[in-house]
Amino acid sequence: MAMNLSVVTIFPRMFDAVLEHGISARAINSGALALKLWNPRDFTTDRHRAVDDRPYGGGAGMLMKPLPLARTIDALKAENPGPVIYLSPQGEKLEQRVVTELAELPALVLLAGRYEGIDERIVESRVEREISIGDYVLSGGELAAMVIIESIARLLPGVLGNPQSAHEDSFSNGFVGADSDCRLLDYPHYTRPEIFEGRAVPEVLRSGDHRQIQRWRLMQALGRTQARRPELLAERELDAQQIALLKTYQLEKNHE
Ligand code: SAM
Repeated sequence: MAMNLSVVTIFPRMFDAVLEHGISARAINSGALALKLWNPRDFTTDRHRAVDDRPYGGGAGMLMKPLPLARTIDALKAENPGPVIYLSPQGEKLEQRVVTELAELPALVLLAGRYEGIDERIVESRVEREISIGDYVLSGGELAAMVIIESIARLLPGVLGNPQSAHEDSFSNGFVGADSDCRLLDYPHYTRPEIFEGRAVPEVLRSGDHRQIQRWRLMQALGRTQARRPELLAERELDAQQIALLKTYQLEKNHE
């Protein structure tokens, strides 16, 4: 059954990007993902269809008014009983672990803020979870919602041509030769030609020896993770084979 995804946004056209392109479009066209956009402006009651107002206590900028948001969420709940996630720089940080968790839900509602954010009473009464895509401030939650949609879409059953690709991505669990809680960065990838601007594809990848290829990929993933994101390795204990691979990686790097 398709994942039922609703997005609350005053800029629905921005979502043409995920509706019309790439893996998210494929997920929608194949029936794995049902995406519906809800515009709070359609739920306003005043002549100007205002969705924003001045903040109590003063201060710069405007806020999203509670009533159009409440009416929008209450209306969509009849079609989508999923948890409401407010995209916010104050939320828990989005990680692959969170994406995997969300991708398993049958239904989900994403709420994109604008201006200086939304009236706190909407957070209290209608938001189940707040998610941030990083420690920086965007002008709206739409791009953050699209980040979530893209990352979920590639995990939905039948969407990727080869489902193993998602398991082997950075931060995923199913790395060849690694145990189940091993979160590593991806290994380097190469395609044709064999030599490009004088740089050759590593010989092992041309050897056809699948055991050696797996060993090399695990070594690269471990080495890269240690060099770039050491905290990911610090979260877990390496086994003897992984320690040996890291040593070989270091030795090879020192000889480059
Ligand atoms: N005043 C808010 C604060 O400092 O927490 C920021 C409001 S921001 C200008 C407007 C909207 O962009 C927010 O309501 C939120 O939906 C979205 N947004 C901004 N940064 C984000 C981030 N890092 N992750 C997710 N959503 C973000």
